[in-house]
Amino acid sequence: MSPSEPRVIVALDFAAPAPALALLERIDPTQCRVKIGKEMFTRAGPALVEQVAARGFEVFLDLKFHDIPNTVAAACDAAADLGVWMINVHASGGRRMMTAAAERLAHRPQRPLLIAVTILTSLGQQDIAEVGFGGSPAANVLRLAALAEDSGLDGVVCSPLEVAGLRAERGAGFRLVTPGVRPAGSAVDDQKRIMTPGDAIRAGASYLVVGRPITAADDPPASLSMINAEVAAALA
Ligand code: C5P
Repeated sequence: MSPSEPRVIVALDFAAPAPALALLERIDPTQCRVKIGKEMFTRAGPALVEQVAARGFEVFLDLKFHDIPNTVAAACDAAADLGVWMINVHASGGRRMMTAAAERLAHRPQRPLLIAVTILTSLGQQDIAEVGFGGSPAANVLRLAALAEDSGLDGVVCSPLEVAGLRAERGAGFRLVTPGVRPAGSAVDDQKRIMTPGDAIRAGASYLVVGRPITAADDPPASLSMINAEVAAALA
């Protein structure tokens, strides 16, 4: 990771492309990346990714692929053809699925970062037991992150509360991408286990996914600048 690269990824969680593109008119692509998720991608498709990229923004395409190895590798290849910066898959798809995805991207001169989702933060102890995972969510996060790194992936998405433990166990270059970030004093919305941008960076986060504190702010560029200042202070 370069010391000067933006650490904030703005979640473009809109129901239509117009408000997303309007937001991008107001913020600077040197100050953040953007995340396009399942809703926006299903509505607006690759054309939106191309429009966003044409405005200079690097895209995290958050589609969380999970299928047989050949299908996931092909989907990752298709995402890479769109020129995106980061993509993700479910670690519970297994070693062969993750390795197939990593190997399919490896030959590209400029490949997207490939990260894994371990245990969705919406799942509690009983939920994971019901689908057959033994042990605590936290233990499964650590185990699946180790499997992801061993399978050639670049990092994981995790809750801010998981960052310190993962950073201690995994190498310095392993990317930790965390949502659930809220600047002090801003609305918590429906997030439960939150951290401030500074605390998440100090705990070892590589990138912060931030939606509503920026997208729903009266002044999105000012909100982004404030978060970036906090990140810079934490990195100094
Ligand atoms: O608006 P807010 O900052 O809460 O948006 C966070 C973004 O990160 C949303 O796109 C949300 O879907 C995503 N996310 C999350 N928690 C997870 C995984 C993804 O909030 N565990």
